[in-house]
Amino acid sequence: MLDASNKIIEARHVSKWYGAFKALNDISLSVHSGERIVICGPSGSGKSTLIRCFNRLEAHQEGEIAVNGIRLHNKMRNVMEVRKNVGMVFQHFNLFPHMTVLMNCMAGPMWINGVTETEARRIALKFLERVRIPEQANKYPVQLSGGQQQRVAIARSLCMEPAVMLFDEPTSALDPEMVSEVLDTMTGLAREGMTMVCVTHEMGFARAVADRVIFMDHGQIIEEAPPNAFFTNPQHERTKLFLRQILSH
Ligand code: ADP
Repeated sequence: MLDASNKIIEARHVSKWYGAFKALNDISLSVHSGERIVICGPSGSGKSTLIRCFNRLEAHQEGEIAVNGIRLHNKMRNVMEVRKNVGMVFQHFNLFPHMTVLMNCMAGPMWINGVTETEARRIALKFLERVRIPEQANKYPVQLSGGQQQRVAIARSLCMEPAVMLFDEPTSALDPEMVSEVLDTMTGLAREGMTMVCVTHEMGFARAVADRVIFMDHGQIIEEAPPNAFFTNPQHERTKLFLRQILSH
C-alpha cells in the first residue's frame, strides 16, 4: 500500500483556462515517492499543460497543487523553491547554447543552490557519468547529436537532485535512431527509484517502467491503470481508439 504521507505531487480538482478555453478540467492526481507515471493522450489533450503546472511554468486557476509539500498558489513568492524540487526535461532540450555541457550542468548548483565551483564541477561530472556522456563535457550543445543533448538535459536536471523529474515528450523531437539512448537513460533512472512523470507516446517504455499509465483527453483524465491492465483491457472507448491508432504506427 502507498503511504499517504509520501506524496511528492498532489493535485486536487485542478482546472486551468487559456483565456476562455478550458485546457485542464477537474484533474486530481497523486504521485508518490518512487512512482513512475506515464501520461499519454491525443495532441492538445492537456498533458503538457498539466505537468507544466507542477513546476509553475503555468498557473492553474481552480483546485490545489502541492509539490513536495509546497502549495502552489497565485501569491507565492518563491517559485524557485518549487523548481529546485522539480526537474524538467523538454522536447527541445532547452540547453544554454552559449555554455559548455559542463557549465550547463554546473549553473543550477552554483547559481541557485550556491555551491562552490569545485563542488558544482564534481556534481556535474557525476551526473554526466550517470547519463554516460562525460567525454562531451567541454563541448557546446550544438556540437552534440540530439540524443546526446537530451541526455545532457537530463543530467542538468539531476544536478539539482530533484524530488521528481518531469519529462515532456523527451524523445519526440529526436531522429528515430536516437530515441533508444534517451529511453535507456530514463529507464535507468526509473530502476534507480527516481520519481518520474513522463508525457510520452513511447508505449514500450510505458509497459517496461510505468507503475501507472494515465490517459488524458480534452483536459480530463479519462482512465488510469497499471500498464498491463491499461494495454490489455482499456475500459473507455476513447482509450481504445487512441491505443489502436498509436499501436498501429
Ligand atoms: P498536449 O500536451 O496534450 O498536446 P497541451 O497541454 O500542449 O496539450 O495543450 C492543451 C490545449 O491548450 C491545446 O488546445 C493547446 O492549443 C492549448 N494551449 C496550450 N498552451 C497554450 C497557450 N499558451 N495559450 C493558449 N492555448 C494554449
